[in-house]
Amino acid sequence: MKKSQLGLAIVTQPHDLYEGVGAYSCQLAASIISKYGNYPAAVFEVAPDSLSKPQDVVNVCKERLGVEKVIFGFSLMRDDYFSQIIQFALDLKEHGYLTFLAGPSCQHRYLPEVEADQNPHGFQGHLQEFDFLYTGPAEGFIPVMDRISADEGYTSCQGITTFKNNQIIKNPSTCPNLDYLTYVNWKNTVLVSGRRVSEKKVSMGVVLGQWGCPYASYEHEFQVDPPAGTNIREQYAIQAYGCSFCSYGKDTGGKLYPFPYANISRQIEGLPLSYRKRKFWLSHQTPFAVLPYIVEANDGIKEIYIMSRADHLLNNKETIEQTLREAKRKKITIVAGAIGFESLLNKILRNFNKGITAEENLEAMELLVALDKQFSPALAIEVGSHGYICPTPWHTEKDLRWESANMFDNPYMGKFFWPSSIQCRRLKIAHTDSLADWLRWVEKESGMKYKRNECGVIEWKTEATDKWEDIIHQGVTFVQ
Ligand code: SF4
Repeated sequence: MKKSQLGLAIVTQPHDLYEGVGAYSCQLAASIISKYGNYPAAVFEVAPDSLSKPQDVVNVCKERLGVEKVIFGFSLMRDDYFSQIIQFALDLKEHGYLTFLAGPSCQHRYLPEVEADQNPHGFQGHLQEFDFLYTGPAEGFIPVMDRISADEGYTSCQGITTFKNNQIIKNPSTCPNLDYLTYVNWKNTVLVSGRRVSEKKVSMGVVLGQWGCPYASYEHEFQVDPPAGTNIREQYAIQAYGCSFCSYGKDTGGKLYPFPYANISRQIEGLPLSYRKRKFWLSHQTPFAVLPYIVEANDGIKEIYIMSRADHLLNNKETIEQTLREAKRKKITIVAGAIGFESLLNKILRNFNKGITAEENLEAMELLVALDKQFSPALAIEVGSHGYICPTPWHTEKDLRWESANMFDNPYMGKFFWPSSIQCRRLKIAHTDSLADWLRWVEKESGMKYKRNECGVIEWKTEATDKWEDIIHQGVTFVQ
């Protein structure tokens, strides 16, 4: 089979949280595979109403890719969408197509829980619905496509995890090649909804400032409190790369690769234009390590959305002020889009291993509000989720009442960071997360059994959090 007879369809859900934003990591992967592997590849954002018609979706993919043979990779899926994806993948498999899961935070959906073979209560994985799981960088998938194209076995390729002869085979991944990460074809996404098939217009890109997170670049050991309302008195020690609720450190294997400035500039030059200017998310947990350079060295930028740890803001006040002065001169707006506050209760932050106190979070909020006043419009605070996680297993009923009141009474929270509707999400613990070890220990100690959902998430519950929806003020939105 010639290379061009095989194509890759990366299937995901419509991504419309921010207008004009695509599924960046899927777009990047499709671009690398098309450009360096010479296989047609594209992203298909498939709306739920089309998942019940797999043959229609297959036809769209074949036509768009210009090939007869397509393999289907699933990535960046929301939990509430996953049962339909499973059925869709099964339908594809029944018709002889190869299906796999890939991208960040997908291991828990594919792999069975530890000791699940001796414990019917444990999550059994989705080994039948998907042929394999791929966890390596996109360029590492090109040899996999070469093997599939040549009808040769791919199970020994790097980054592949699969189930064969009744056992799980897990091959280590290769490291990413930073040079491959500079090119994205922003026009490689197709929206499929019912009878409508259209090209997705992406006007806001992503620039990778580093791969990995500095705080998650080494393993931390720390003690986790028992859940509120149990008879368990002792703590339990776990190990995690960085924050206990975040799987990014585990996904990147604790590795950290800062990008050279020249590479960052090349990415900025390749961004889509919106009214002849560029706006983008900067993927960097400590953004002011690179923002002074980006603002000074690049022209034609309109907006830069940043994510940041709160302590990074506090530790870099002077650099931030200098950068904002230069941004104002160049008419660039830096948008504080996702600041990881997570909680304003020290007990919760400690169990998150966040490495930050509630007082530091408040100080960072105060600093941002003051900078916003001083440098507007060079700085803007985005109405966003800013990572607030509530409820958690450690919240007592009193804590939850405090959280609910604080969302509106605190001088910064409701007014600047979540003005129209406060968004917070319930702590999610997948069976492969570090906190899952703690939950399995809690189950053994207390005799309780938590349900596992079809995504491999352990549905912990406490008496206090059962009351959360009654306690909470109106105007609070739950996000996935
Ligand atoms: S939450 Fe942010 S700071 Fe914490 S480990 Fe994840 S990426 Fe790093």
